[in-house]
Amino acid sequence: MADSKADTSHKKIFNKAYDFTKADEIKAQGLYPYFKPLQATDGTTVQIEGREVIMAGSNNYLGLTNDPRVIKAAQDVISTYGTGCTGSRYLNGTLDLHLELEEKLATFMNKESCVLFSTGYQTNEGSIQTIAGRNDIIFSDRDNHACIVVGTQVSNAKTVRYRHNDMEHLRTMLEKSDPNAGKIIVSDGVFSMSGTLAKVPELVQLAKEFDAAIYLDDAHAVGVIGDGGRGTASVFGLSDEVDLISGTFSKSFASLGGFIVGDRSVIEYIRHHSPAHIFSASMPPANVATVLKSLEILQEETWRLERLEEISNYMRKELRNLGFNVWSSQTPIIPVVIGEMYNCFRFWKDLFEAGVYVNAVVPPAVPRGQALVRTSYMATHTDEHLDKILSAFKKVGIMHGIIDKNGRSLID
Ligand code: PMP
Repeated sequence: MADSKADTSHKKIFNKAYDFTKADEIKAQGLYPYFKPLQATDGTTVQIEGREVIMAGSNNYLGLTNDPRVIKAAQDVISTYGTGCTGSRYLNGTLDLHLELEEKLATFMNKESCVLFSTGYQTNEGSIQTIAGRNDIIFSDRDNHACIVVGTQVSNAKTVRYRHNDMEHLRTMLEKSDPNAGKIIVSDGVFSMSGTLAKVPELVQLAKEFDAAIYLDDAHAVGVIGDGGRGTASVFGLSDEVDLISGTFSKSFASLGGFIVGDRSVIEYIRHHSPAHIFSASMPPANVATVLKSLEILQEETWRLERLEEISNYMRKELRNLGFNVWSSQTPIIPVVIGEMYNCFRFWKDLFEAGVYVNAVVPPAVPRGQALVRTSYMATHTDEHLDKILSAFKKVGIMHGIIDKNGRSLID
């Protein structure tokens, strides 16, 4: 029901806000799973509402957010550089640490150049807006992350959205397009809700045929999958064929910020033209030092990526064996489909009571009737954590009539 303030307010602009009562309704039922304050964490476990639960919903893939070496690296630079840069990279906000990180990431990713942004979101929004101009066409997967969608909206380019991972549809769209336009195909490398990969070999083939560039948002892939953690294109041995690869520091790299790598001229153009880069303050020193240390650990401790892959395969197999629908996940992101939105909230709550934190994802982020809990894993989860997660899923799944005791699904 609409808030009564909506009728009396003269500021019509706010009526939509007064009418927004959904969150309060869900809260009144005790089912609201969002904005839960974490009171403390060691990475794999978190304190929420005074109790300790296992974290199975974080993007902390390498488990480095609480690593003592990473924490020390962040602490150490604060005494030299202070806590913030108070300016954009263009002006007073460039530190030697930023340059060091750009150089190391370009080398790691085997590309000529790299530019940092202050978030992963800004990286994609700001790079796409800059690279695609008035006479260009962006071909964007329909399931791409919101920051790509916004990047296409603020750019002056024409945008064509193709059906998710549907290469035939993309081909049709490319065939119909102006042969003289500049073209770029933009896709998540790993799709953040389903954990599936972009079809890089097909994208590369189409890009060649139609003289298009390729841009992969590898937020959930660099430091997670591929050769030494070099992301989605490297899974297929095709890194050289992908023009631009972006990543974030808010997941495997245990920090905040983002980057994009590619040919020197293209990166220099982005560096000098992207509003999100030029008009926003640069990454604080502690954030940069965290990434530098995480990148070093990623390369030295190869067991982390191996363990992550092993855990992901194990959890996918075991959740399937219990009877859950995990879509077509290929990565440490493993969705578990529950069904209707309120059922999903109830499931989330009971799982939390059983000691496991996951993320509830409901429409429009997923199709209607396909609300899910998104689970994600980290290299530092122990076997004991995993078994506790699985037994909580089994108990709650049976309780909710989603699976039976014999590993059968009871929902469509
Ligand atoms: N791209 C994808 C695919 C993402 O999932 C996210 C964040 N969840 C981002 C970009 C934005 O990254 P950040 O949160 O570091 O700004």
